[in-house]
Amino acid sequence: MSDSQNARAASLSHLHANGLAKGDPLSTPIVMSSVFHLPGDPAGSRQYGRFDNPTWEAVEAALAHLEEAETVAFPSGMAAISSVFLALLSAGDRVLLPSDGYYTPRVLLEKHLARLGISYDTRPTASFLEGGFSGYRMVLVETPSNPGLDVCDIKAVTKAAHAQGAIVVADNTTMTPYGQRPLDLGVDIVLAADTKAPNGHSDVLFGHVASRNTAMIETIREWRKLAGAIPGPFEAWLVQRGLETLELRFDRMCASAETIAARLADHPAVRSVRYPGLKGDPSHALAKTQMLRFGSLIGLTLDSNEKAETFIDTCPLIEAATSFGGVHTSAERRARWGDDVTEGFIRLSVGCEPTETLWQAIDAALKTA
Ligand SMILES: *Cc1c(COP(=O)(O)O)cnc(C)c1O
Repeated sequence: MSDSQNARAASLSHLHANGLAKGDPLSTPIVMSSVFHLPGDPAGSRQYGRFDNPTWEAVEAALAHLEEAETVAFPSGMAAISSVFLALLSAGDRVLLPSDGYYTPRVLLEKHLARLGISYDTRPTASFLEGGFSGYRMVLVETPSNPGLDVCDIKAVTKAAHAQGAIVVADNTTMTPYGQRPLDLGVDIVLAADTKAPNGHSDVLFGHVASRNTAMIETIREWRKLAGAIPGPFEAWLVQRGLETLELRFDRMCASAETIAARLADHPAVRSVRYPGLKGDPSHALAKTQMLRFGSLIGLTLDSNEKAETFIDTCPLIEAATSFGGVHTSAERRARWGDDVTEGFIRLSVGCEPTETLWQAIDAALKTA
């Protein structure tokens, strides 16, 4: 990691403690309160639990520290995405999305935003720059895309989309602020599902939106207050706790993924592997220019649906589950959700298990499948 990334990681755990008075608890308190003591003029203090909460403020401060941008927390990744759509788009606006990215934003636009007069188009991540950005009010990138792990050039997309007056949003869920920094590459808004690696323990849904554009982030914050899509204090506390070990976990996950992806690529039971860190991968050249790590997700294809299911079921160190970014390695066949991938395609989320032990289990399960 760069010096600035190390400095950010090192100071994260001290953010809260730096503001303490003698005798205060060193850990962040969970403040379960819908109302606050509020005599007289309500201006200038906390008023009501839908407007603010000290435990959200603590997790927002931690996320803002990592993003180097003001941050608004949400109760899920989709709540973060829908807030960006609903707070910043108007009837007549058109949105561009990746055709191979997380599918729920497309369904939300199709089923609910279309009737509000907001339309959308999709385009593959690998050719996202082709066709230009004329006519779009908002352009959303997700790179590497989930689950195919194609990559687009964030800087070039942002430059071209800004020239057409579009707001550029990056869903950085697969990478976290330790793996890729889209705001530094020029995007207006970064958002993520902290449900994944930032929380990391598969026990909470959470999300955030961050921006260095004061007007945009204030609009998002006001939208949350009015719409009521607020996180619970306990969930905020769990995510803040998770963030304190994110650097350590993500470092292990990405390092293991690099080792395992290279071995999978040479494995006789594996038909093909996608991982942006592999030299031969179509994403590699671009990934090297904009990603700080290559991530913890690997796409691997086995010969059939049956072989893929057997592999997942027989490996004792792989949990059969959707989602990714947990301390436990997990995997699933994405065709079961209708993703545009082959039947034998598996999304493997590499966890925090010791690398060689994990590899031995994967290798043995591949030999069985
Ligand atoms: C999981 C995910 C989301 C949605 O997050 P939830 O917390 O499940 O609402 C959004 N974007 C990407 C890329 C994701 O992987």
